[in-house]
Amino acid sequence: MSAPLRITSAANPVVKSLKALHLKKGRSESGLFLAEGARLASEAADLGVWPQIMAVSEAALERPQVKKLVSAAAKAGARVIETSEAILGQIGKRDNPQTVIGAYRQRFTPLDDLPIQKPGLFVALEGVRDPGNLGTITRTADSVGAHGVILVGQTCDPFSVEAVRATMGSIFAMPLARTDFTTFEAWRRGRDLLLAGASLKGLDPHDAFPAERGVVVFMGNEQSGLPAHMEAACDALVRIPMKGRADSLNLAIATGVMLYDVWRRRGYAGARD
Ligand code: SAM
Repeated sequence: MSAPLRITSAANPVVKSLKALHLKKGRSESGLFLAEGARLASEAADLGVWPQIMAVSEAALERPQVKKLVSAAAKAGARVIETSEAILGQIGKRDNPQTVIGAYRQRFTPLDDLPIQKPGLFVALEGVRDPGNLGTITRTADSVGAHGVILVGQTCDPFSVEAVRATMGSIFAMPLARTDFTTFEAWRRGRDLLLAGASLKGLDPHDAFPAERGVVVFMGNEQSGLPAHMEAACDALVRIPMKGRADSLNLAIATGVMLYDVWRRRGYAGARD
């Protein structure tokens, strides 16, 4: 590999462009997002996903594994920069910076290109607002082997630094689609997927639909839940039992309960040992 470009100033344009990825504007203009950590970069590499830019600390470059990763990234076309931990701290906006930070291309999967394994399992989120919830849900969807996360309507940015951090790497593994409700409805009907809406207004318990069918678990917005017309379109509208004083579950927790229950009823098929 040719020697990485050594950058010593935080005013360098590449450093500035990486820092800009903390802002929606910077991400929209470049089409990139930040993912931090050597472990994440190496998991992405295992899936054949390479960054456009990879920033590495001088110390990390001494480690054979990082050296190998950086060299493979450069071969795949990444622009590699070597810099100080202080500058990596500024890029990641952390006191305790990661030694490797990548800028990756944002990628949405068109609905029609989502995997078609049977029985399918998808999660659709209407108007999700909190990037931590979205990232946690993406990670959980990956953990149950779901086939995609579908963003319906106006949502927070799945490529924000906070959302990506919460995915813990699942951002690279989980197909992500975004669409409007009408297109989503036509798509799931065309694939004969059962729409299981999770709602506090549900009259049936959360396992009151057949898990052997392909299922889309449909979750509502943190403040207002699912709009009435979307609830009306569901094949099943279910409620997770609760007691105590809380009036609802956190969105990511509720999604985890829903997804794990479908997978449990499918005998945890494909679970690793
Ligand atoms: N005030 C909102 C409402 O009335 O729906 C609460 C929204 S809750 C924080 C966010 C989403 O999590 C809900 O739209 C629903 O999809 C899911 N959720 C939370 N608790 C649930 C429960 N006990 N049963 C079913 N879904 C639940």
